Amino acid sequence: HTPRSEAVSKSIWSELLQLTAEYKAVNLGQGFPDFPLVSFAQEALSNAVNGGFHMHQYTRGHGHLPLVKILAKFFGRILGRDIHPTEDILVTMGAYQAIFYAVQALVYEDDEVIILEPSYHCYEPMTLMAGGKPVHVPLKPQKVTGRTVSSADWVFSSEELTSKFNSQTKVIIINNPSNPLGKVFQREELQMIADLCIKHDVICISDEVYELLTYDGAQHIKIATFPGMWERTVTIGTAGKIFGVTGWKVGWAIGPRHILDHMQKIHQNSVQHCPTPTQEAVAVCFQREFDTFGTEESFFTQQLMLLQAKRLRLTECLRSIGLQPFVPDGGYFIVTDISTLKVDLDEPNTKDEPYDYRFVKWLIKEKGLSTIPVSAFCTPEHRADFQNYIRICFVKDDSTLKATEDILRKWK
Ligand code: PMP
Ligand code: GLN
Repeated sequence: HTPRSEAVSKSIWSELLQLTAEYKAVNLGQGFPDFPLVSFAQEALSNAVNGGFHMHQYTRGHGHLPLVKILAKFFGRILGRDIHPTEDILVTMGAYQAIFYAVQALVYEDDEVIILEPSYHCYEPMTLMAGGKPVHVPLKPQKVTGRTVSSADWVFSSEELTSKFNSQTKVIIINNPSNPLGKVFQREELQMIADLCIKHDVICISDEVYELLTYDGAQHIKIATFPGMWERTVTIGTAGKIFGVTGWKVGWAIGPRHILDHMQKIHQNSVQHCPTPTQEAVAVCFQREFDTFGTEESFFTQQLMLLQAKRLRLTECLRSIGLQPFVPDGGYFIVTDISTLKVDLDEPNTKDEPYDYRFVKWLIKEKGLSTIPVSAFCTPEHRADFQNYIRICFVKDDSTLKATEDILRKWK
């Protein structure tokens, strides 16, 4: 047998993180807030850590009870159905692990897994490590004239998607709102995916880590709410993105117990327990948000206003040097076409690298700005199709955005 890890190629993340540190570049690469967390979250964690001795011992393996109870209440209200706190939910080390478990539970040798491209970078390696075959369907920007370009311009062809479903198809992984594009799927797009899942008996893994971050009134719709879809959907979330605490690594999967049961067994035989204090703190934060949901006091409402302003600031900054960023409807990132800048990077020994990889490295070294190449979110064979775009994180402190503006202003 070939080792499982051989199926997956080296990721560009560590190389870029290292380069960013080495050149002390302004970091708009990795998706995390570089400003202090909200005080109630800090307090919740501090109270948990300073709580009774039991806060420092194992808690319930499939999820700290106060956390699964409030997750069931919070997401039950959004889903419009009763969620069983212990049977329909599993708490994991971040969304990453929940996706890994879902793929391990559902995908077997030669099963096909449909992935929309560009997509979050772990879906393909996780599929390969489970023995499955990734089947890619590209999202392509439609040529739209006369209005601002937005993440909604990136669409899949319905004929192409339909043609990829067959008797080997086991799973489709969607990411809504998406990373890197910030695409929030329209009802019709989700309906088409749901119809195909039902027709071909396919399970949907729906990565919704940015579900509470949609801008300018864009509406996030959960595919699990479509008729016939609860039974065949695993919805993934993380406190990292919901409360801006990526280092806590508290994630979860919510879905029907016939699937969750497999995932719980995999968890039981790999990690078994997630840390107690962070789960307790997330439970307290969710209770606060459950009670204030939709009011001005809600952190979610305040966070949206803050992030919307940052998104606008960075968009305008990019436009000032002649770029045309795709304004995202949701999430943490802005994708922009870089080909219009016409930066000539034909260094002889790097020609086999996609243009965006070379551009991003050049941007770190020459301009002191760190971003992520969009082709890193595509399978190696398709990288050339997506090599004219970079991803920029706007969930950054005003001082970071100011430093970015200074760099871009000098560029003009
Ligand atoms: N899915 C997507 C789309 C993400 O952007 C991220 C990173 N926030 C994850 C999953 C992983 O989340 P976590 O850090 O909670 O594992
Ligand atoms: N989800 C984060 C991002 O997309 C972190 C990814 C990572 O560290 N590999 O930036």
